[in-house]
Order: sequence, then structure tokens, then C-alpha cells
Amino acid sequence: MSHITGALQGRTVMITGASSGIGAAAAKLFAREGAAVVLVARRKDTLRELAEAILGDGGRALAVPGDVRIPEEVGEAVARTVEEFGALDAAFNNAGAGAFGPVLHELDEDAYDTVMDVNVRGVWNCMRQQIPVMLRQEHGGAIVNTSSVAGHSATGATAPYIAAKHAVLGLTRAAAAEYGAAGIRVNALTVGATRTPQLEPYLDGTPETVERLTGRAVQKRLADPEEIAQAALWLCSGRASFVTGGAVAVDGGWSAV
Ligand code: NAP
Repeated sequence: MSHITGALQGRTVMITGASSGIGAAAAKLFAREGAAVVLVARRKDTLRELAEAILGDGGRALAVPGDVRIPEEVGEAVARTVEEFGALDAAFNNAGAGAFGPVLHELDEDAYDTVMDVNVRGVWNCMRQQIPVMLRQEHGGAIVNTSSVAGHSATGATAPYIAAKHAVLGLTRAAAAEYGAAGIRVNALTVGATRTPQLEPYLDGTPETVERLTGRAVQKRLADPEEIAQAALWLCSGRASFVTGGAVAVDGGWSAV
């Protein structure tokens, strides 16, 4: 694997939700683009297999299984990143769950708590442990958080998921404002419907389902996970050096109409 001209050549990136879908696509892409990738998610075996595949291709990867809801486990991932690779140049806080389910008054408190914990507290837990490391680095750092088209509109996902993805934009903007002067860029992706295991239970192969899931996307198709990872790659790289506080739409035109 040649990393000579990679967008993340010599950089270290922590990726949460790396065991599947968008996070796994980002892990492979970032490694091909020269990054050392630190993979975080709960499924140990899947994570380790992915790390081994990246190492087998000549890349640099470390699996640190963990739950983003648990501060100690996030802390362990951040510490291992610095121990192993000497820096934390960028973070892709992408772990998320729970897009679909019953309407608001039929949801129970556990469902609400889980969605808020993974999507909001998870991003907060990650940023509050990543930022101190980036503050100590002369070159600062870049953070990309995964929001959704549900971060700006009611998409058919559950009310807590929509609220959670709005909150991810709030956390992103607040962090961008607080740490911009210290050289830390913080952006979010507002992701449209993407062909990943999160959507699989709802993909029954009928054109009606695809039509319903693609929603307002003017491209009238689902995204491939790598198309989302490409946007994250750009935001994590120095090529996006004047981009911060952004809610970058990667949604096939959903938000244009
Ligand atoms: P996915 O394939 O289901 O991946 C979700 C990832 O998050 C998995 O790696 C999962 O790993 C991890 N995760 C879930 N709960 C976790 C926790 N408590 N701690 C650590 N990791 C956890 O779905 P995806 O579509 O790639 O989702 C990635 C992100 O994109 C999510 O934030 C999602 O909300 C967002 N998004 C997706 C779509 C879409 O259409 N697919 C659209 C808009 C936004 P483990 O199970 O191993 O922990």
C-alpha cells in the first residue's frame, strides 16, 4: 500500500463505530490515505478482524474495543492512541444507533435514554477526552461528528433520534467556537440514507422501500458508506483547513429541496 500522497499521510485518527457501515469504510479509506487508525466499537472480534485486514494491506491500525457511553472506555481508546502512535491528529466520532421505531408517545424511557446516550453523550464523551490531547499538540487537531439529515429536519426517524442528531450539531458548533482559536476544527456531517447495517432491517428489496428511505434525496438512491467516509476524510485532513463549525451535507441533495 503506497501512502506517499495520502490526504492523511502520517496522521493518527480515532474512529468510533468502526466495526460496521460508515465507520468501517472510513477506517479502510483513512488507512489507504496514510493514517494510523484507532478503531473503537463494542464488537471486539469484528474490530480486530478489520484491524488485521488493514495491517495485512500494509496500513497501520489498532483495535480498542469500547462503548462510547462509558467515559473510562473512551479514555482508554484516547490513551492507547497516544501511547501507540504519539498523537491524536483527528477523530471521527461516528458511533450511533436507533434511527427507527415507534412514534413519540409510544416510545418508552429506555429507548429514549439509549438513543440519547449513544448519539449525544457518546459524542460528548469522545470530544471531552480528545480535546485535551489536541490542546497539548502544537498543530491542534480536527474532529468530525456524525449527524444526519435528521439533524436538521424530521425525516421519519424516531423523535429521540432526530433530537439526538440535532444535539450533535449543537455540540459541534459549541466546540468549534470554544476551540477554534486553539487550532482545533470541529465539524459535523449531515448524512443522508446510506446502505449500512443500520438500514438493512428496512431494506426489503422493493422499489417502494428504497423510495421511502431515500426520502428527499434528489439523487434518488442510497449512499455507499465510502461516499460518506470521503467527506469525513476531507474534513479530517489539512485540505479543509478553513472549515470549522460546519454541518456538511452528504445527503444526495436531500437538504437542497
Ligand atoms: P451501523 O453500520 O449500524 O454502524 C453503527 C456503528 O456504531 C457500529 O460500528 C456500532 O458498533 C457502533 N456503535 C453503536 N453503539 C455503540 C456504542 N454504544 N459504543 C460504541 N460503538 C457503538 O450504522 P451506520 O449507518 O454506519 O452508522 C454510522 C453513523 O451514521 C451513526 O451515527 C448513524 O446514526 C449515522 N447515520 C446513518 C445513516 C444511514 O442511513 N445509515 C444516515 C444518517 C446518519 P458496535 O455494535 O460494535 O458497538
